Amino acid sequence: MNANAKPACDERQGYIGGSDWESLLGEVLPKGERVYGCPRRLFYTKTGAQPDYPEDVTGPMRRGNRLEEVAVKLYEEVTGRKTMRRDKFRLTAAPAWWGGHIDRAIVADNGDGPGILEVKTTGERVWWTVVHDGIPQRWLSQIHHYLGLSGYKWGDLLLYWPDGDLHAIAHVKRDDKMLGLMTDVGADFWRRVEKNDPPDRLEPKDRRCSVCAFRHSCQGAAMFEAAGEDTGEIERVDDPELLRMVRDEREANAISVEAEAVLEICREKVRQAIWHKNAVEVPGYRLYFRAQKSQRVDTTRLKKEEPEIAARFSREIISRPLRVYPV
Ligand code: SF4
Repeated sequence: MNANAKPACDERQGYIGGSDWESLLGEVLPKGERVYGCPRRLFYTKTGAQPDYPEDVTGPMRRGNRLEEVAVKLYEEVTGRKTMRRDKFRLTAAPAWWGGHIDRAIVADNGDGPGILEVKTTGERVWWTVVHDGIPQRWLSQIHHYLGLSGYKWGDLLLYWPDGDLHAIAHVKRDDKMLGLMTDVGADFWRRVEKNDPPDRLEPKDRRCSVCAFRHSCQGAAMFEAAGEDTGEIERVDDPELLRMVRDEREANAISVEAEAVLEICREKVRQAIWHKNAVEVPGYRLYFRAQKSQRVDTTRLKKEEPEIAARFSREIISRPLRVYPV
């Protein structure tokens, strides 16, 4: 049994919660913003469908839960404001399907009344992405969810990157237009839940499908296409230890993708900073950023125009790459 698996069904099944909006508002988020959720996946969870594979509670999720207290303390120290837990509460006539818990309520200290505190403990990539691109719409919709539920007029979003010991606070004012849009989209989705009418599927090649716990039931055979046809050589192995290794590999792969993204963000900043210079020295480092010419053989053209020569200078190399596909 996977100790990190989420329970198949939880209390959030009965309503749309704050973190569900990124699944519903994907289509209206600004172009270019990365969307993680899928309306159909949310539909499955709200209708109590059994996932094909256990949904893991990932390291970043555990980190967020463990460090929430630390982050809240930090917020109180930096702002001098008090916060309090408000477990389940509803102060407005929000629709019955609009529910959930807030991280903390901020005790009133200004003319606007109490506020909502939403805490995000992040890894390095998310930190730098937010510094670069600003607060993502999915987080703004999340804080608006709690503003809709409480009727409060404002909230603070605390972003905390523990490894860098850096934090930022975004002050968010209630936007009734945004709440109106969420009410429309949410009501439409909830009607589907009540009528058992699932939203459309994404394209099976969508990266969200590759990690979706419902991918097999939802996409069926389409999910197997990328993994290749079973020509009879595939051995089905029921070995929990191997499964754990594959999961470790996937997690490490995700970390390496994240590290690549961080590296690229940092490199781009350096490039922008020295854009009009060819060579720069700062204490301890010398940087070159000059145009370079290189010669490459156009193998596609060579094979087409001089196939015999291309064949003479080609040699067979045997390799054994490990490839992992979701099925
Ligand atoms: S497999 Fe893809 S389309 Fe289907 S629920 Fe999952 S993410 Fe959505």
